[in-house]
Amino acid sequence: MMEERVEVFFDTLRADVPEYIHLLEREALRDGVPVIRRATRDLLRYLLRVHRPAQVLEVGTAIGYSALFMKECLPETSRITTIEKVEMRLVRARENLKSYDAKGQIRLVEGDASDVLRSMAQNRERYDFIFMDAAKGQYLNFLPDIMSILGPGGILVSDNILHSCDILESRYAVTRRDRTIHGRMREYLYTITHMDELETICLSVGDGVAVSHRAASGISMK
Ligand code: SAH
Ligand code: MG
Repeated sequence: MMEERVEVFFDTLRADVPEYIHLLEREALRDGVPVIRRATRDLLRYLLRVHRPAQVLEVGTAIGYSALFMKECLPETSRITTIEKVEMRLVRARENLKSYDAKGQIRLVEGDASDVLRSMAQNRERYDFIFMDAAKGQYLNFLPDIMSILGPGGILVSDNILHSCDILESRYAVTRRDRTIHGRMREYLYTITHMDELETICLSVGDGVAVSHRAASGISMK
């Protein structure tokens, strides 16, 4: 397939990552933890290196792989807050952050993102880069709180928008649960591509990623 050849070619261009990132990637693949693809890693690296956000928020830590990778792309002064609710994942995340985040740049918040995001919004916390990588069916519910904590000029990256391309399939080829998740994802994508506050591009990188930029000023073309 054309895409596979492109992927192999891009693999040869990819900048090196620390050995522990490879180890964690292998652990995740072995245990079926749905971590970001390498192409998604490339995109995150690019965005983080260009924008150099001071405050990063991740929704969906899993074992800490993407949070640790993002840390590698940021200045030592930047901070990452990452949210996870599943105990089994938290056990590994705590260990991995302890081993590989020696400078304490990453803060792990344990709890359901719906509650955590709500209290962040109430406390008027501000983030200039948000990586949304949790349960796909919930992105739309998180959006109002995400919008109140995403600062002007901030970037929102939403992962897994193509759900392994299932979202494109006939409505009858997928289960009822998938239909609901896909419907919610389509609605989420429609919302972020049509909001005045955001400029959004949907990319078929990795498992599909939407990159949204919040205007720094009140100026909008829409
Ligand atoms: N970002 C990680 C992968 C995250 S997988 C990486 O690429 O390395 C998605 C994670 O989101 C799972 O571990 C799941 O437990 C968590 N999650 C899903 N819904 C959540 C919620 N409502 N609150 C907190 N965590 C959630
Ligand atoms: Mg993902």
